[in-house]
Amino acid sequence: MSTMVTRFPPSPTGYLHIGGARTALFNWLLARRNGGRFVLRIEDTDTARSTPEMTQAILDGMSWLGLDWDEGPYLQSERTERYNLAIEKLLETGHAYYCECTPEEVDAMREKARAEGKKPRYDGCCRDKNLGPGEGRVVRFKAPTGTCAWHDMVKGDISMEYEEMVDDFIIRRANGSPMYNLAVVVDDAEMGMTHILRGEDHLSNTPKQIALYQALGYDVPEFGHVPMIFGNDRKKLSKRHGAMSVMEYEKMGFLPEAMVNYLVRLGWGHGDQEIFTQEELIGCFDTHGLNSSPAMFDMKKLESVNAHYIKEASIDRLVELLDRHLKDLGISAAPEKLAQIVPLYQPRAVTMRDMAEQCSFFLEDDETLEYDPKGMKKHLKPTACELLTEVRGMLADLPDFEEETLDKALNSFVETKEIKFGKIAQPIRVAVTGRTFSPGLHETLHVLGKEKSLRRIDRALQLKAEQAAEQA
Ligand code: GLU
Repeated sequence: MSTMVTRFPPSPTGYLHIGGARTALFNWLLARRNGGRFVLRIEDTDTARSTPEMTQAILDGMSWLGLDWDEGPYLQSERTERYNLAIEKLLETGHAYYCECTPEEVDAMREKARAEGKKPRYDGCCRDKNLGPGEGRVVRFKAPTGTCAWHDMVKGDISMEYEEMVDDFIIRRANGSPMYNLAVVVDDAEMGMTHILRGEDHLSNTPKQIALYQALGYDVPEFGHVPMIFGNDRKKLSKRHGAMSVMEYEKMGFLPEAMVNYLVRLGWGHGDQEIFTQEELIGCFDTHGLNSSPAMFDMKKLESVNAHYIKEASIDRLVELLDRHLKDLGISAAPEKLAQIVPLYQPRAVTMRDMAEQCSFFLEDDETLEYDPKGMKKHLKPTACELLTEVRGMLADLPDFEEETLDKALNSFVETKEIKFGKIAQPIRVAVTGRTFSPGLHETLHVLGKEKSLRRIDRALQLKAEQAAEQA
């Protein structure tokens, strides 16, 4: 059997979005699973809308997800000659012809067909005129007749009537640039593609492309069309459903392996297994597992997969990621400090961004730490402040701030006072973190350290005293 060759051919008119990333991943896995080659091709023939920045952004997205390519990136903009050679061949063999109809005339033809209750299409009026090249002339492909059938890797047997699906479509614009269907067939054939897995939105292009393969004498590859991704409102996924670019998920603090694991499950399954390592995926990915019904993008699910991978990650890796997300918040910290903080959040963190936001109080200056006004009001009433003053005195006398020492001291404090632990827990928490939520109190105090904890308690008490004075 010949080597399997798959490809990802994005148009650099936008970022690498969720749907594109999933297509890239499926093709990458197909190649990796079968010891094949994965080709990256940038379809930048739409020069008005394609930019090098977008190309770079797509490459960055692929690299972030760990989708490496064996060949490319090829640029379609550098391959015009190949397309022209193919167009010449089609003209010579009578599969294509020049057409002088103006866009207005073609619009009128379509309108007429519509009015007669027929499919809007080009009526073939220049087919037999034997025109040569000339100003304003496009090249059209002579649509075949009969049935176009293929076994789709996802949808099973498909057959369509050419007359229904394909008119004499343009393969070269009047300005000389090739159209997508022509360029994609020339590239896929010349680059040796054996399997083409892409979005269902390209289903109507497939009969045109199969006709072109046949007219050009190329072998027709296997095709597979994966259903679109929907939002949870059952509408096609769009910006309304959240971020579209995969790199935005990186900014939101998702791990690439979580993203890959989530994306692969959008339309592919292997029994009821949910979590797959990359090796497992390469070991078991197959087209039989591809679903022919639409997939639903579910942010909650993505978050739970991400939480799983955060739990699995090493402290060192999370320290690096946390550092990067803290920098986005304008906070820098020593890695040793972060290594103490990470384990407090790792068991429950949903994203690295959340972790950064939640742990920032550890790293902020004592003098500028912000206090949640509601938390202050609720948990630092005058009686609580009195208790807190006593706690502060007791904490100051401790020989160290080890968790065990803190645990014993705080427990014996509440026992002697005959009060519940809750009476002091929230006042201490609000005073040292500025917030009403934090990891366990002992752990928090331990990681903050004695000096900072005491300084913060003093500042909270002082702020309360100032507030009381103002109100008096
Ligand atoms: N450039 C096309 C796109 O991004 C490629 C479609 C295909 O896979 O043939 O939609």
